[in-house]
Amino acid sequence: MKDINLEQWFHGRILREEAEALLQRNGCGDGLFLVREMTNLAGDYALSLAFGGIKYHYQITRHSDGRVAIEEGQRFEGPVELVAHHFTAQDGLLTKLRRPLLRERNVEPMGYKGVTHAEMEAARRQAVASLASMGFRGEPHEAIAKFRRQVEQIVGAVIQTKQPWFHGKLTRVDAEKRMNQHLPLKDGCFLVRERDQQGSYAVCLAHRQTVFHYLLDIDVDSLLSISNGRKFDTLLAVVDHYSRKPDGLLCPLTDPIPNDEQLYEPTPVASKVALPDVPGSGRHKVVVSIGDDMPDFFRVDKEPGFQSIFSESSDQGVFEITPSAISTEDQLGSGNFGSVLLGTYSLPRTRKRVQVAVKMLKVDDVPNQRDEILREAQTMAGLDHPHIVRLVGVVKSNPMMLVMEIAHLGPLHKFLRKRKNREITWLEVLSLMLQVAVGMAYLEEKRFVHRDLAARNVLCVTPRFCKISDFGMSRALGLGNDYYRAEVAGRWPLKWYAPECIYFFKFDTKSDVWSYGVTLWEALSFGDKPYFGRKGTEILRMLEDGERLDCPAACPPEVYQLMTKCWSFESINRPSFKQVLRELKSLCKRAHKGEIRPADLYLPMRH
Ligand code: ADP
Ligand code: MG
Repeated sequence: MKDINLEQWFHGRILREEAEALLQRNGCGDGLFLVREMTNLAGDYALSLAFGGIKYHYQITRHSDGRVAIEEGQRFEGPVELVAHHFTAQDGLLTKLRRPLLRERNVEPMGYKGVTHAEMEAARRQAVASLASMGFRGEPHEAIAKFRRQVEQIVGAVIQTKQPWFHGKLTRVDAEKRMNQHLPLKDGCFLVRERDQQGSYAVCLAHRQTVFHYLLDIDVDSLLSISNGRKFDTLLAVVDHYSRKPDGLLCPLTDPIPNDEQLYEPTPVASKVALPDVPGSGRHKVVVSIGDDMPDFFRVDKEPGFQSIFSESSDQGVFEITPSAISTEDQLGSGNFGSVLLGTYSLPRTRKRVQVAVKMLKVDDVPNQRDEILREAQTMAGLDHPHIVRLVGVVKSNPMMLVMEIAHLGPLHKFLRKRKNREITWLEVLSLMLQVAVGMAYLEEKRFVHRDLAARNVLCVTPRFCKISDFGMSRALGLGNDYYRAEVAGRWPLKWYAPECIYFFKFDTKSDVWSYGVTLWEALSFGDKPYFGRKGTEILRMLEDGERLDCPAACPPEVYQLMTKCWSFESINRPSFKQVLRELKSLCKRAHKGEIRPADLYLPMRH
């Protein structure tokens, strides 16, 4: 097998985009080609080839017998032999290889960021030498080629510890401290730290003066990836890749924060304060209601189900229900986790059977799901309010079940869509949204952030009475913490999220207020989709430019004004839920007296 490093058409670890640019710059004639190494998988190569003015890329994979091939094609000792073959035989390619695109003189094949190709190759040879001392016979470059991935992982593990950006075992807090000694933080400053678990890492990246922690998952083949992103052999490859393009991060990695021990003082252990699990669930009862001062039209305390039989059952935390007490029937809805079924629950003392909603969760499918669900249950258990769906208890079998009070009429957006033709008036819609504001004011008081407030998560019990549901994303704010910061981004409802959630992963009551504004818009548009047809990036640009959702046809301008206040770019300029509630109550009263109406009602009549 020939040594690929000696070939001038081998460019090392360059990106597909870079290969295409090179081909373009060199005329892109038929048969012009180069070979590069895949940046995520050491030992796999790509043949980039021009034909008809278009660039094609063929992956050259090393098979388990140690030989390489394009897909399932003919196998060769190595990429050099494969290339030689295709000079004379087209054999499945669009054209024979004609003209090699050569590296510039004195430029070695591209290595990793911060490590030259030569350094890397020397380290590889060293690793192979140690293989030889264990009895391996053969040319080093052959061994490197054949066992490249394994060698790369060994070498990577050694070389990464010598990189300036590698800080070894470090807590999140200490990492932020280290980074904050380099103020003002340039976008792209980064370090990599080892987390508590062996072999688990995080990339800490500065963006707009904030440090973001991206966790690196490790799979069964020891490949590393940032939340479902590309997979890599080594940390070197991770840093290398994300230095070349952001690929989902907030910005590319640029300057390493150097690991210089003397610079940093460790955090004394005693200063770490343990936060209670659910700080909002204090014993005192929080009362937030619509109030006696409202016209009867808005009073719902006589509605069936307003006085819940499950109220205050939550004082002891999450109540465990035996599987035999629950039987399930039809599906009510489905969501991210699994399905929600109609169920019957036999009350423990009286044996009375009542209808409930049962969220079924297949625990096996996703690791950590169990904890997630128990957290949702914990959160709900701490809440007791007529406008919030109550938790009845949890069945800890498999599948796990979250048993909740039922809201027969289902999600608000669908409920309204069906009644668009005046089966429900805008004033009745406003009354429902007043209840949502009451529920949210209660959450605000209890220091919970919902993080997924949307019409789909407001459920109707009767046409006049609704509740907030879906606490899958909710968080109790810690003592002394006014916001929750997500460690990593997830599958987020971006159209309902305030800018700081998207940019800084920061969630507080004021970001819930933003979502409330969007929910209010959905409600008064009778279930329309907000920003319909627009992409996330487009919406962000639109928001930055000061543009907002339009006033729905059935919405009085005064109510729209409240919406736009909820959409103040800076969270500090948004009202609190207490203020929203106060304002909405006054708007409801005026609307009820006929003092404010949707602009549409003033349109001239046709006849
Ligand atoms: P996810 O977190 O997956 O979005 P949700 O809690 O929002 O899950 O529930 C998904 C769907 O199940 C809802 O849109 C609704 O149709 C139905 N559902 C959930 N909870 C109830 C309930 N308490 N009563 C009636 N239907 C419900
Ligand atoms: Mg939901």
